[in-house]
Amino acid sequence: MSRDHSKSSQAFARASQVIPGGVNSPVRAFGNVGCDPVFYDRAKGSLVWDIDGNEYVDFICSWGPMIFGHGDEDVIGAVRAQLEKGVSFGAPCEAELKLADKICELVPGVEEVRMVSSGTEATMTAIRLARGCTGRDKIIKFEGNYHGHSDSLLVSAGSGVATLGIPDTPGVTAATAGDTMVASYNDLDSVRTLFEAAPDQVACVIVEPVSGNMGVVPPAPGFHEGLRSLCDEFGAILIFDEVITGFRVALGGAQEKLGIDADLCTFGKIIGGGFPVGCVAGKARFMQKLAPAGPVYQAGTLSGNPVAMEAGLAQLTKLQVNAETLYPELERKGALLAEGLRAAAQEAGVGVCVNNFGSVTTVFFTEGPVVDWKSAAQSDREAFATYFRTVLDEGMLIAPSQFEALFLSAAHTDEQVRALIGAAREGFRAVAAR
Ligand SMILES: *Cc1c(COP(=O)(O)O)cnc(C)c1O
Repeated sequence: MSRDHSKSSQAFARASQVIPGGVNSPVRAFGNVGCDPVFYDRAKGSLVWDIDGNEYVDFICSWGPMIFGHGDEDVIGAVRAQLEKGVSFGAPCEAELKLADKICELVPGVEEVRMVSSGTEATMTAIRLARGCTGRDKIIKFEGNYHGHSDSLLVSAGSGVATLGIPDTPGVTAATAGDTMVASYNDLDSVRTLFEAAPDQVACVIVEPVSGNMGVVPPAPGFHEGLRSLCDEFGAILIFDEVITGFRVALGGAQEKLGIDADLCTFGKIIGGGFPVGCVAGKARFMQKLAPAGPVYQAGTLSGNPVAMEAGLAQLTKLQVNAETLYPELERKGALLAEGLRAAAQEAGVGVCVNNFGSVTTVFFTEGPVVDWKSAAQSDREAFATYFRTVLDEGMLIAPSQFEALFLSAAHTDEQVRALIGAAREGFRAVAAR
């Protein structure tokens, strides 16, 4: 590669001696794409700079939270003001109330909110709550959907383990995994089959309303309506994991965009404004079962942290104020990107499937259509690695995995979107020339 990454490579070598694999979350490693990860130094708006001084346009956006780009003045201002008042209380504060009120106001069907510190905690809590409310043990999730790394959800979580209840990772017991049933995304028959195999045993169905963690896979028409009615038929709770889609696909998330009334939902990423925040939310009749209102235990020393709450509140308030122009603009830029990528691939003679839903897009190196994990897994990962290295070298930071999304923020300009298309064109040419 022509850019100098020597400082990043040195930092990575040192980090690998004190941090397993040199990174604090596996998706940050560049192992799949055959190079060392870039160490960031600073970021502003849609740009980031690495410790070697290279500048990039950032299409990772911290995996979703930075919907206004980096260093948004309103979010930073709210954080600064709170820092002066106190960093952590471990006691109730008004910012928690304001953020909970804001989420109830903006998301249709949400009546109560419990704050946690990550998306993983949010989904883990939602599952426990669903089990506690129904008195049932089994859950249904979808192959290729990722809901964080708690034991019962780390089954077929965007990797190739296709069969029922086989854990993806050492350390998850067969008993835990055995309570997790796995259906195919966009395939209602597969869900009905699981329900019928264990009638009266399924506590909930958890789903990414728009899949983002096997790459972007939009829901087929009628898929979520079908899930809603299957859950009603079998007395199960429907959980929308909106950790990516929340406040991204619409101000009211996928529940607003798709017009589906979920029982429980989970948020993360955008709601923290870049700070570690997640929440489980939904109908009062279920939420009231959480301790101390009810018997289902859940807790957190840093839950509702005032700095994180103020950051999230500032971000959601800004989204609300700008919603009328912001969401259509994100969709317009997303469509521009997806069309441009398709045209560039065709020009280079590389067969790809570009899936897009508003501000999230994935280029799959397979002809497609990509509608579920099995079709996503057809992608040529070697081709992706070649494409990735070329795009990075052109100054575009994209996720180092075939099974992730390109994220657009309000800070990205049309010119930057076109620059990414141009870089991708070089990437497709490199793939064609292999
Ligand atoms: C990122 C993500 C999670 C996990 O959130 P963390 O904050 O990383 O624990 C859960 N569900 C979905 C859909 C996600 O994309």
